Amino acid sequence: MNNKLSADYYRYESLHRYARQLGFGAIHHKIDPKTGLNAVIAIHDTTLGPALGGCRLYNYRSISAAIKDVLSLAHLMTLKSAFNDVPHGGAKSVLLKPQQIADRKAYFRAFGDFVHELNGRYITAIDVGTSTEDMDIIAERTPYVIGAAKTHLNERDPSPSTALGVMHGIEAALLFKFKQHNPEGVRIAIQGAGHVGYHLAKLLSQRGAQLIMCDPNQASLQRCITEFNVEAVSSEEIYSVDCRVFAPCALGGVLNAGTIPQIKAPIIAGSANSQLAHRLFGKVLHHKGILYAPDFAINAGGLISAAIDYTYRDPRMADAKIAKMYDNMLGLFERSHRENLPTTQVAEMIAIEKLISKRNCMEKIE
Ligand code: NAD
Repeated sequence: MNNKLSADYYRYESLHRYARQLGFGAIHHKIDPKTGLNAVIAIHDTTLGPALGGCRLYNYRSISAAIKDVLSLAHLMTLKSAFNDVPHGGAKSVLLKPQQIADRKAYFRAFGDFVHELNGRYITAIDVGTSTEDMDIIAERTPYVIGAAKTHLNERDPSPSTALGVMHGIEAALLFKFKQHNPEGVRIAIQGAGHVGYHLAKLLSQRGAQLIMCDPNQASLQRCITEFNVEAVSSEEIYSVDCRVFAPCALGGVLNAGTIPQIKAPIIAGSANSQLAHRLFGKVLHHKGILYAPDFAINAGGLISAAIDYTYRDPRMADAKIAKMYDNMLGLFERSHRENLPTTQVAEMIAIEKLISKRNCMEKIE
């Protein structure tokens, strides 16, 4: 084997090993030269129901990088749904962004056909790089899509629901750590004034919290200053703000060896995906006595709202189900304390226990 082939072979082997470790169900790949579609759909688990997960359009540097990303994201979706009692399995799709999409409608119709071929085992939704307009195009070819005008009853932007779930998580953390029943007068630092950051700031300011925010996008930051009277700091200063809660609502990997020593907040609870630069940092936070709300547990409000909308067609059910996140998060904090284990580990254990219990029930019925 020449060097290039052998490097490819080992990359392929290690991706397979990674998929086996995570317990993958199926990985589907479609290439459509006519439209430029190069898509991977990874279905991690369907124990709780049809697998649900967003469709990410991104400029991946290689197919291996795309597969690695889709595996990790689909696995997280299983945990996110199971932890929050959402009747769906975990999946994700990634589209390797071509240099140019000549005809976006044809491109997303081809993706819609790909989703439809899986007969409802996978339901797609908006994610980084895709929009509600793209979901409308997918819906021309398949009913297995969330966030398209014709399949949606609620607000199509998931961010207000995600922010509501994060706020319930913050309230549960304040009760657990400080016996405080609401955020009134509490200093909370929010990193990011984008979709979720804005809605979280709105909810918390309505409840009397004192907010400190940062965002390199001046327009987004200024909107929060004007509407909610927040104190602005730089993106570098946000970690060391003297506050009770640090809410990362911007980027992944922000909890790392460089930032954790700077953090003064005793609670970290925000919406950003993959906040820990490495899963070991979950242990570090636990040992430092910082109460960490695992991202996949606390940022599920948007998923819950979309899933309820899709499954039950009753928009009123969503807020009640999101409110239940308060009890789920409180239960997680209490168990982590009782068993002296990091919240990240306990949240995974809770999700896996729910999956096992459902599988046992199904086996009994069969
Ligand atoms: P967004 O793109 O609307 O907002 C992100 C904001 O972060 C932007 O305003 C950006 O300027 C800002 N930002 C970038 N770098 C920054 C830095 N160094 N410091 C501070 N701010 C910075 O995204 P969003 O929809 O608000 O999502 C925020 C996070 O929550 C993302 O990690 C996303 O994956 C996650 N999430 C979002 C949802 C949702 O419903 N939108 C659901 C689950 C998870």
